[in-house]
Amino acid sequence: MRIGFGYDSHVFDDSAGRPLMLGGVRVPDSPGLKAHSDGDVLIHALIDALFGAAALGDIGAHFPDTDERWKGADSAKLLENAALEVNNAGYRLSNVDATVICERPKLRPHVDAIRRRLAGLLGVGVDRVSVKGKTNEKMDDVGAGKGIVVHAAVLLEETAPE
Ligand code: MG
Repeated sequence: MRIGFGYDSHVFDDSAGRPLMLGGVRVPDSPGLKAHSDGDVLIHALIDALFGAAALGDIGAHFPDTDERWKGADSAKLLENAALEVNNAGYRLSNVDATVICERPKLRPHVDAIRRRLAGLLGVGVDRVSVKGKTNEKMDDVGAGKGIVVHAAVLLEETAPE
C-alpha cells in the first residue's frame, strides 16, 4: 500500500466572471478562482496526492502551466489522465479523503455531487471518495474569504503483477 498527500490553494478572482469549479462540479453563486487552468483547487490537490503516492512527481511536472495545451484546461480531464497514469504504473486507488477549507461558499449542499463526480472520474465507487468542507474560523487570508485551500490524502494498493 502507498499513501499520498496533496495540497493546493487558489485565490478568488471576483473580476473575471468565471465559474467556481470544485471536484469537477460547477458551484453556483460564487466567484471562480484565479488560475491558468479552470482553477479546480480540489482536483489539483487530488492529482498531487495520486502522483505523490506513486512517486511519479507532481501536477506541475505532468501538466506544466507554461504549456499552451493546459491553458484553461478542464481539470476533470487532467484527473482522469493522472488516474490512468497511476493505474498504468501498477496501482489501484483504495480511497480518497479531502478537506476543503473556505469561508465561502457553503459546501455541504454540493458535497455529494462532488463525491459522485470524482468517483466517476477516478473509476471507483462513491464510498471510496470522501470530501469534507470546513471554514478557517475567520483566521488568516483563507478566513477572510480570499481563497480556498484543499488538503487531500489517497491510499493506493499495488495491483498484482501480470
Ligand atoms: Mg492549482
